[in-house]
Amino acid sequence: PAHVRRPMVAGNWKMNGSKALVSAMTQSLSEVSLDNVDVVICPPMPLLACVEPNKFYLGAQNVSQYDAGAYTGESSTSILSELNVRYVIVGHSERRELFAEDDQVVVQKVQAVLNAGLTPIVCFGESLKVREEGNYLEFLYAQVDAVLNGIGAKIKDCVLAYEPIWAIGTGNTASPEQAQQVHAKVREHIAQEYTDIAAGLTILYGGSVNAANAAELFSQQDVDGGLVGGASLKTDDFIAICQAA
Ligand code: PGA
Repeated sequence: PAHVRRPMVAGNWKMNGSKALVSAMTQSLSEVSLDNVDVVICPPMPLLACVEPNKFYLGAQNVSQYDAGAYTGESSTSILSELNVRYVIVGHSERRELFAEDDQVVVQKVQAVLNAGLTPIVCFGESLKVREEGNYLEFLYAQVDAVLNGIGAKIKDCVLAYEPIWAIGTGNTASPEQAQQVHAKVREHIAQEYTDIAAGLTILYGGSVNAANAAELFSQQDVDGGLVGGASLKTDDFIAICQAA
């Protein structure tokens, strides 16, 4: 599709994968032409060290908001940078829900990532309850505003990802119209203060993207690619999704 923005597909392996999958994915991606899409692979932290990015960028699924020190189990932006990481997923709903990361932590992490010269992939999305109550756009604006209030015009150095929680890992993908509506509204919302930046901002869709539904989702005007969970673990499916962007 003829987008003004360069498409991106990021694979979020979550706590899945293996050294063998790193090899298989690297090999498979090296065999196909992916000139018109930025591909990002986000394996679990320990696997980052054994990836040699080739035709794709390396992403982390999390990072500490702190620079260094006594934070057992955490990883800093400087360590990630040493491992050739270029992108960091921040604010994924699983981090928000399972690891109690609130908007304040999300902002701190986004700032840490930007200060290190890396690109945050900032996730936002509503639960089924919020969607059914009808006020989901306000909810999503509030999540985005928390980040905007923290970083202002530096939003231009972020990638955003709309990930409705009800669509994640459920097979219940948002329809292309549902995705397009939110992407366009959020872009409009950001444009109220940052008109030029908003037009150039990459906004990914995530939530049960697969090889069969990717092309239609990505053909929506404001959907600039995908953040892919389950389907990013299968080389053929992931490549099909990348080629649909
Ligand atoms: P899913 O996950 O593609 O498995 O629904 C998407 C995500 O959580 O990023």
